[in-house]
Amino acid sequence: MGKIKIEGYFCERCNHKWIPRGNEEPRVCPKCKSPYWNRPKKNKIKKFEKKK
Ligand SMILES: [Zn+2]
Repeated sequence: MGKIKIEGYFCERCNHKWIPRGNEEPRVCPKCKSPYWNRPKKNKIKKFEKKK
């Protein structure tokens, strides 16, 4: 029995997962075409809603 390790990428923007063909890191997400797919959203400013 062998184990296969599949390395894939995960887009932080659209939650798309894919497996790259080459060894190079993709520049954009193939789905949403975002160049920031590997960068998490900044949570510098937290927004909250006022509930009343
Ligand atoms: Zn994406």
